[in-house]
Amino acid sequence: MSASSDVPFREHQSMQVTGRLAPTPSGQLHLGNICAFAAAWLSARSQQGRLLLRIEDLDTTRARPAVEADQRHDLEWLGLTWDVETPRQQARDYEVVRERLSDRTYFCRCTRAQIRAGGGTYPGTCRDLGLTAGTLRFRLPPGAVAFRDRCWGERRIDPGRFGDPVLQRRDGIYSYNLAVVADDWRDRVTEVVRGADLLDFTAVQMRLWEALGAPPPTWLHAPLVVGANGCKLSKSHNGLAIAALRAAGWEPARVWQLILPWLGLAGESLADALELFQPEQMRRGPIVLVDLVDDRVPAPQEDMRWRDALAP
Ligand SMILES: [Zn+2]
Repeated sequence: MSASSDVPFREHQSMQVTGRLAPTPSGQLHLGNICAFAAAWLSARSQQGRLLLRIEDLDTTRARPAVEADQRHDLEWLGLTWDVETPRQQARDYEVVRERLSDRTYFCRCTRAQIRAGGGTYPGTCRDLGLTAGTLRFRLPPGAVAFRDRCWGERRIDPGRFGDPVLQRRDGIYSYNLAVVADDWRDRVTEVVRGADLLDFTAVQMRLWEALGAPPPTWLHAPLVVGANGCKLSKSHNGLAIAALRAAGWEPARVWQLILPWLGLAGESLADALELFQPEQMRRGPIVLVDLVDDRVPAPQEDMRWRDALAP
């Protein structure tokens, strides 16, 4: 894994479609995660492609090995099978990729507090200081990045609005942006299907693909499931966990009947959806669920569907 000759160059045209399921073992899988995994599964399978499983346990403080077994069980229970498991992130060496990007990187000594005080977006303060230690950042070239999402269509986003991305923290931990691009490159992933929370970050990752001199994968972003007021699902949505639904007597078929319409996909079962899968017909979302523990929040229409589905 350490010699640069081990890093494969990819030729899309001659390669089988390869997608991936990339769970982070930091919590139980819920219906929101499953929407993205279902889209990834349907996309790869509908093209007779391969599907990889990759455990994204980069962040050692959040990764919980005990959760992994439950996540695998949930995926298999729902029929979201994979062909091969690739090395988990903690078992990977990102040195080669970091080295490969070295003419585009620089060290930064700014603290989070300093960046926050300056408005939150890193303004490139240390770009030309020639520092020899600190946080490793990627020097974004100027300008917007155009890419096509298979559901959202043509997108044009300036990654500069996020500031020069961190590739490696000062404690040595690699960043999600670096790891995910490096992993998809090494795993020869040809299509990335994930939640729409990462849609705009695609522009940042496109810059990293470009700097690696490798053809990027295709992109498909699945609708997010959010709580009341558009907020991210939290612990108060534990009732949406696959394990909780299973414990409450749900069968996989019932899960699919519930969430395929959320995704805007035709069919009542996973097999139907596979037959009929058209990524451009997927809805963009977000899918808003009422906070189940707070009845004071007025329920939009989709929340009512969720409540109906919960009823015995
Ligand atoms: Zn700095």
